[in-house]
Amino acid sequence: MNAPSHSLSALAGARIVNGLSVDVEDWFQVGAFEDVIARDEWDSISTRVADNVYRVIDLLAEADVRGTFFTLGWVAKRHPNMIRRIADAGHEVASHGYDHARVFTFDRKAFAEDIRKARQTIEDCAGVKVSGYRAPSFSIDHRTPWAFAELAEQGYAYSSSVAPVVHDHYGWPEAPRFAFRPLAGSSLIELPVTTAMLGGRRVAAGGGGFFRVLPYAFSRWAIRQVNRVDGRPAVFYFHPWEVDPDQPRVPNASMRSRLRHYTGLARMAGKLSDLVHEFRWGRMDEVAVAEQVRADAMPVPAVLTGIAA
Ligand SMILES: [Zn+2]
Repeated sequence: MNAPSHSLSALAGARIVNGLSVDVEDWFQVGAFEDVIARDEWDSISTRVADNVYRVIDLLAEADVRGTFFTLGWVAKRHPNMIRRIADAGHEVASHGYDHARVFTFDRKAFAEDIRKARQTIEDCAGVKVSGYRAPSFSIDHRTPWAFAELAEQGYAYSSSVAPVVHDHYGWPEAPRFAFRPLAGSSLIELPVTTAMLGGRRVAAGGGGFFRVLPYAFSRWAIRQVNRVDGRPAVFYFHPWEVDPDQPRVPNASMRSRLRHYTGLARMAGKLSDLVHEFRWGRMDEVAVAEQVRADAMPVPAVLTGIAA
């Protein structure tokens, strides 16, 4: 049993189950269009989310992959059949907040109401128990240390709400790159979205616009690095609207927002298919369980010390 160590680590990498997640929101509910489409207009805009989710369910079924669908309460309320179909296909249904307001726009009380309302709505629609939460636009950061205490108080098992990287819209660069326990005395676990190390710097590598805009080879390299060098699962995310190249265009959005939202839509389904076939994927609740022991050993950012469950 003198196998060369590189093949052992390759084997370990090949066996790691990565976390696959879908942030379920409609094409007009994204942060990039927040300034030009108000929430009170949402009900008057043509919805495409259910058809896009069904496309995603088929794409994952074709690779025999199950993942987690972090869903807005607002969407769940209007598409209960879609939520049930997600659950019936073996995926985890979890919460993405009620209407995509970012956590750092709330105080603790308003955040508590938002996540309670979202979870209740989703659970009532799907008849399933919600145990996971993803903040809209990864908006838990150094400004909102109380968010973890509130999630723990409401009994969530895990959160995947931190982007441990510098980014223009979000990010908490001081946060750990891998699973950690944000609160002393609580079993709540945080599963940050994946970053890779490139030239000594952290780079976003867990999906979103980066996956659409950059060649697939970048994501393959990054996930291999995380699995084989770090020996950890990747946490990857995308949106149903990203597999919908025919979605209406928002003409009055900024050039930057339009570039960010529309680039690479036509190639997205093919890239996703490559991704889900090439690596092993599972639900985020499974990844949370698999990461428990290593999360215990991870030091937390200073801003979280002294915050109790
Ligand atoms: Zn979102």
